Amino acid sequence: MGNMKNIAVVAHDNCKKELLDFVDCNHEILSRHNLVATGTTGGLVEDMIRERATRKKDAGYDFKPVNRMKSGPLGGDQQLGALIAEGGIDVLIFFWDPMQPQPHDVDVKALLRLAVLYNIPTASNRSTAEFLISSPFFEGEFQRKESDFSDYTQRKL
Ligand code: PGA
Repeated sequence: MGNMKNIAVVAHDNCKKELLDFVDCNHEILSRHNLVATGTTGGLVEDMIRERATRKKDAGYDFKPVNRMKSGPLGGDQQLGALIAEGGIDVLIFFWDPMQPQPHDVDVKALLRLAVLYNIPTASNRSTAEFLISSPFFEGEFQRKESDFSDYTQRKL
């Protein structure tokens, strides 16, 4: 993956404030990458970065829209999973709620499964997200070790 990365951001409702604060605190780094998000999370993040860009226009601060999928419970997590399978996501920051069952729990599990399967750097909480974003790999080149699925794809049936 190159220097500019496709970063997926998702937060369940009780975690949205935390994610927005994370984006706000790290806006400068994040503005150098492409953001993709589930619908509601993406709307909130986009409003915040647009507002910041308007305030900082004179400083040459660029506003880049967020690539918004459908809302999570309406298929957005599945869309992000499909993007991972197609190689369209480099980093996943997903603050999922450990205290509340979600109507789309199976979709959440599927997204997290694909992130593990395709060896995508994934943060499920603020501390891990801080570790990820402060890694030299976040802004630099990173060669993700591709998983080898040949045993599976060439299995004899
Ligand atoms: P949302 O979806 O951003 O549309 O709220 C989050 C989720 O996947 O639950």
